[in-house]
Amino acid sequence: MAATNRLKIATIPGDGIGREVVPEGMRVLEAAGRRFNIAFQFDEVDWSCERYKKLGSMMPADGLEQFRNHDAVFLGAVGWPEVPDHVSLWGLLIPIRREYQQYANVRPVRLLKGITSPLAGRGPEDIDFYVVRENVEGEYSEVGGRVYRGTEDEVAIQEAVFTRRGTDRILRYAFELARTRPRRHVTSATKSNGIIHSMPFWDERFAAIKAEYPDIATSQYHIDILTAHFVQHPDWFDVVVGSNLFGDILSDLGPAVAGSIGIAPSGNINPERTFPSMFEPVHGSAPDIAGKGIANPIGQIWSAAMMLEHLGHSDAAARIIEAIETVIADPASRTRDMGGRANTAECGRAIAEVVAG
Ligand code: ATP
Ligand code: MG
Repeated sequence: MAATNRLKIATIPGDGIGREVVPEGMRVLEAAGRRFNIAFQFDEVDWSCERYKKLGSMMPADGLEQFRNHDAVFLGAVGWPEVPDHVSLWGLLIPIRREYQQYANVRPVRLLKGITSPLAGRGPEDIDFYVVRENVEGEYSEVGGRVYRGTEDEVAIQEAVFTRRGTDRILRYAFELARTRPRRHVTSATKSNGIIHSMPFWDERFAAIKAEYPDIATSQYHIDILTAHFVQHPDWFDVVVGSNLFGDILSDLGPAVAGSIGIAPSGNINPERTFPSMFEPVHGSAPDIAGKGIANPIGQIWSAAMMLEHLGHSDAAARIIEAIETVIADPASRTRDMGGRANTAECGRAIAEVVAG
């Protein structure tokens, strides 16, 4: 894709530390823009639990219309203790993912230089892969129900919905991503020994799509042993693809083996580019540290790098990652969660300065 030099970005700081780290992400984007000749137009909205408490909705009814033609959405975090999770999820995140057909949730799992993995003896050369999660169907469906409530005979039924179209497109996304990587390997997460309808179907589609990519090596594991391998053999993985539920589990486990929750980025990707994709840190609004200016901005800044990569600005993206690694090499520039003393803005400014060069 040809790189445009003018990018329209919808910015949603959201709640809690989202409001503290998004400005640092923007600061670093501006610095990259000056260096690589990219002009950003940031259109910021107050969609959040804060808005819900004042106005009764997370976002305006026609909210998604506003950003349909933007290049990307840059999100901080949404969620707040007094507001139930289903309100913030179903009132904002899920509508964006579904309306903009962001069916691939992508998380790089990469041990940056200067970060210590909780896995003893593992260095950056051992932990460098992607988790690709199916983001709109599968186990998280609304099909099902409960009968005989409150009696001894009570039954709850939850159906998983796997469509051929939905399964094939997420698998193809994983294979395409593997093609951009030196190792060219895709691992599929399955459980066809226990889940006897949807998972054999997933395996069949995996075999069918694999046949389209003879240049890509593959492996497949049941989800239970796969989680063990993440911990014991992180060096086996390159691109790991899973259903909505299995991908959800792996995409939290992955960043955990790569160090602090505060640095992990993610993308909700619309691969066809018919709608904007959305980039956000893996962490939430962190009410326990919100308002103190101590949050680690690196998850947000790395998400900004993913956004630039997606929009065709690989040079600028690589520059941001290098700058993050340069800055965290100096313990004085790290935030407290990484054992340093810098505050959010100091860490963000240090990264922006290195990007600007
Ligand atoms: P959600 O439910 O929205 O996924 P959560 O409540 O499960 O989020 P977080 O909000 O991510 O979890 O917070 C988990 C813990 O990690 C908290 O103690 C929080 O302070 C810490 N934490 C999260 N993000 C950061 C960050 N950027 N910098 C420092 N600490 C963080
Ligand atoms: Mg939470």
